[in-house]
Amino acid sequence: MAGEILTLAELERWSFDGTALAVLGHPIGHSISPEMHNAALAQLAKTDAQWRGWKYFRIEVPPPELPRALDLLHARRFRGVNLTVPHKVMACELVDEIDEAARPAGAVNTLLWNSWGWRGFNTDGYGLSAALRETLGRELAGADVLLLGAGGAARGAAVECLQRRCASLAVANRGHARRDELLYLLRGLADGIPVKALELPPAAIPAGALVINATSAGLKPEDPSPLDLASVARPAGIYDMIYNPPQTPLLRQAAQLGVRGANGLSMLVHQGAKALEIWTGVAAERTAPMMRAAAQAALAGRS
Ligand code: NDP
Repeated sequence: MAGEILTLAELERWSFDGTALAVLGHPIGHSISPEMHNAALAQLAKTDAQWRGWKYFRIEVPPPELPRALDLLHARRFRGVNLTVPHKVMACELVDEIDEAARPAGAVNTLLWNSWGWRGFNTDGYGLSAALRETLGRELAGADVLLLGAGGAARGAAVECLQRRCASLAVANRGHARRDELLYLLRGLADGIPVKALELPPAAIPAGALVINATSAGLKPEDPSPLDLASVARPAGIYDMIYNPPQTPLLRQAAQLGVRGANGLSMLVHQGAKALEIWTGVAAERTAPMMRAAAQAALAGRS
């Protein structure tokens, strides 16, 4: 079930007396974050009464309304906020303080209420690293990474690759302007790690590369695969950030060729568990399994 979507007009008349959390996006109906977080909170509340009054909401916020939304949620004392498409970059300009690790990505996906304002974090990078470890048994440290895409998700992933000291990073994107802008940012952070730009699809990739798909190619059934695995050197693994549908053309081809692959559900789960840790202090490792079960159930309910 998609669940209730709140609007800013409803927030003006807000009367919830528990501890509120929310995800803001446009559109927001597709987000399964409320199901994941509310399931984890309900599970925690079974053994610890302090979580009983906590609830996570879904709020539709068009981009021009983001400044008003954040002011309103702060005044209403929301404990925390998640940001999804298209708000992550703009929110960076609106928060009062940014976590050191989130600054290079230029995007925040998690906000924590403080009396003086919002503190911004980015848990997407953590989510990606934890997901690669869990699903592919791979670390970014020491890996030759081929990153497909140059949008918001790719930007966070690329910064994470460099912060974790990958061996090399190649970025391939359909549009050159966005790719080159990202490369400019990355070269400033690379600290000796080779960083290069490729065409999409790339003509060649390093053998044994870790391929991360951060394009949205594969979201729709008619989308072409961003990479033909049959025409390039065999990668060590494919991580596709898309989780709905669960199998994209890229992952289907990986399975056919016997290349290990995983979809983006694990990243969604781990970034969510880390956000909940920031708001509650409960370790992400503890709530991730609760969130995973809820996410799988929510996706099954929607398909
Ligand atoms: P953006 O809109 O910021 O970027 C989209 C990217 O996809 C751009 O690089 C764009 O290229 C590329 N692209 C779009 N359509 C095609 C196509 N048909 N062929 C090739 N490239 C294409 O989106 P995000 O970066 O926020 O998200 C990207 C993907 O990652 C989405 O599928 C999203 O669902 C997923 N995601 C998953 C997360 C998770 O937790 N699992 C977290 C965040 C995102 P161009 O610049 O040329 O337009």
